[in-house]
Amino acid sequence: MIVLIIKIMDSYDVVIVGAGPADLNCARVLAEAKKKVLVLEKNEVVGPKVCAGGLLGHDLEYLKLPDELLDSKFNKEIVHSPFDTDIIKLNYDFIYTVDRKNLGQWLLKRAQTAGAEVRIKSKVTKIENGYVVVNDSEKIGFKTLVGADGSNSFVRLHLGLSKELQLIGIQYIIPTNKYKDIEFFFDSKLFHSWYAWIFPHKGYVSIGCGCDPKKFSSKKIMANFKKWLEINKIDVSKGRYESFPINADYKGYQFKNVFLVGDAAGLASIWTGEGIYQALISGEEVAKVILDKKCVPAKLNDVIKHKKLHNRIVKILELSGPVRRAEYELMLLLFKSKKMDEKFIDLIA
Ligand SMILES: Cc1cc2nc3c(=O)[nH]c(=O)nc-3n(C[C@H](O)[C@H](O)[C@H](O)COP(=O)(O)OP(=O)(O)OC[C@H]3O[C@@H](n4cnc5c(N)ncnc54)[C@H](O)[C@@H]3O)c2cc1C
Repeated sequence: MIVLIIKIMDSYDVVIVGAGPADLNCARVLAEAKKKVLVLEKNEVVGPKVCAGGLLGHDLEYLKLPDELLDSKFNKEIVHSPFDTDIIKLNYDFIYTVDRKNLGQWLLKRAQTAGAEVRIKSKVTKIENGYVVVNDSEKIGFKTLVGADGSNSFVRLHLGLSKELQLIGIQYIIPTNKYKDIEFFFDSKLFHSWYAWIFPHKGYVSIGCGCDPKKFSSKKIMANFKKWLEINKIDVSKGRYESFPINADYKGYQFKNVFLVGDAAGLASIWTGEGIYQALISGEEVAKVILDKKCVPAKLNDVIKHKKLHNRIVKILELSGPVRRAEYELMLLLFKSKKMDEKFIDLIA
């Protein structure tokens, strides 16, 4: 007798590719609405991601993160240009650092508590009409697909969308408690319209820089970063080197029954590189649109509007050419008046 074993293809209302902040927030909202939702994550552990782990007030307000999850809180940041240094200080904390693994695990628990199924070691390797293939072997069906798979998004690639507007972020993670302040370094000769940073965490520091790869080659970005490390006498010999792109090329979030959120949608800021807030908001708002086609995603529209403002600021900085250096010096001079501090924080967030 021949026994035929037929594997029935699992099928879900929504399949979400990736388990970053955008993905897990989207999964939580859908699961709360009793949708059958599956998150597929290629890595073994949810959370770790090349990131400086900086959060702003709007992230905290939105997430209501427990205090013990934060590595550090700051009511000031130190801003440097080649010729000057200034301190932006407010009478409340406005910038924070968080460990990405801890943040990811916290978001994961929330999504799972709401009823979302999350599978690790599950890389989406193929997308067809109505199903994805996981690890080149298993087919999983979907009514709706959400691409929340970051800057190198496979879902975005499947949709045939290009990525013209992007940054490269590089950093060293150094185990030390030596650094106490959050610092930014604007030097257009080394970083063009971008900057270098020092973000202290609990037990380690992220020291990095970013740049548009269209302005400098990867080799040049690395050479300039090394030069900056030497000028500032920063020892990275015990550090772990990491780099990753930041996709800022937004081309829409809905493509029939396929949605893009977070970095996959290109929602990160081209000016600051901030992307966690945009990922969280787009995850929630896209979930609401999936649940109700008539829903107007007001918070996502605000994020897109703010992102466009950042695009314009970078355009101006880029068009300024050699004047850019003077613009940074002027910016530091304005900070000295103190009236600009709160306005600047509003502009970046
Ligand atoms: C050096 C650097 C520093 C940064 N610093 C900050 C900062 O201080 N503050 C800030 O707000 N933002 C920062 N960012 C940006 C921030 O990291 C991202 O904007 C944010 O992580 C985007 O979240 P996401 O959920 O869209 O994607 P991600 O966090 O990238 O999550 C995507 C997930 O999808 C998974 N995945 C990818 N492909 C597949 C596949 N085929 N199948 C299954 N799973 C897949 C990945 O493993 C990952 O877990 C930084 C970025 C870099 C590179």
